[in-house]
Amino acid sequence: MLDVCLLGTGGTVPLPQRWLTSCLIRYQGSSLLIDSGEGTQITLHKEGYSCKQIDAILLTHYHADHTTGLPGLLLSMAKSDRTEPVWIIGPKGLKNFIDGVMKIAMYIPFELHLLEYEEQEFCFAMCGMEITAFRVRHSVPCWGYEINVERRPRFDAERAKQQNIPLRLWNPLQKGETVEYEGKVYTPDMVLGKPRKGLKLVYVTDTRPVPAIAAHAQNADLLIAEGMYGEAEKLEKAKLNRHMMMQEAASIAQEANVRELWLTHYSPSMPYPAMYKEEVRAIFPNTIISKDGQKTDLAFTEE
Ligand SMILES: [Zn+2]
Ligand SMILES: [Zn+2]
Repeated sequence: MLDVCLLGTGGTVPLPQRWLTSCLIRYQGSSLLIDSGEGTQITLHKEGYSCKQIDAILLTHYHADHTTGLPGLLLSMAKSDRTEPVWIIGPKGLKNFIDGVMKIAMYIPFELHLLEYEEQEFCFAMCGMEITAFRVRHSVPCWGYEINVERRPRFDAERAKQQNIPLRLWNPLQKGETVEYEGKVYTPDMVLGKPRKGLKLVYVTDTRPVPAIAAHAQNADLLIAEGMYGEAEKLEKAKLNRHMMMQEAASIAQEANVRELWLTHYSPSMPYPAMYKEEVRAIFPNTIISKDGQKTDLAFTEE
């Protein structure tokens, strides 16, 4: 349903087995990428995906470890004969940043549609998903992303019967069409049951813990969050450089009652993030210490 793959889990600089931050999300034939750090196109191919099919790229901020993969990725997309436009969405400074990228990725045969925002919260629809960018607290302006997939309510035949809705209108109404019939207007909500829970994914890096994260991640199916350090002595450094500890991310996951937490964006000073697994799972049991290529297919929960 909602395919998620972490292409890179490194922060700052890559390691031999760890590329820089990037996350691929696929839904109903569309592909969306969040951040594009160095190595993005390499893990994309390694995991069996095609760069030709990326429809939108969301950027959290313009630090190099989140963006240096973009020129190469765009050039590979060009080589794969892509002709359809690609959306690039990011905070204030996007046009400036893309002007720089285009100086080294000059021959792009498809249009780049830019969507630049600077609001504390910015909502938009992309690839069939409802997306909210929300401001976090890093050393430069930075935003997290909340991604929602709606689930349509069930068709309620009893309600339709009670309202004497002609049988021939059930099908178009069920498909979401408003119908005018014999001088009366019928709307889809007249035949639909109670609302059903959709899917929610929240992606947040780089930042100190701020209340907006738990607020947006409330009851999320998956929270992907920065876990820059695991070692308690690194807290001061995390505060200074405005990054988040693994334990802080786990506390947010616990507070927000998410289904699962994936940690990512590890400092290169931490070659074995899994050594903190027990410690973070004591705070939030459903924590995954992600590696490059971490995948899931999120599905609606039964109702
Ligand atoms: Zn970073
Ligand atoms: Zn950063």
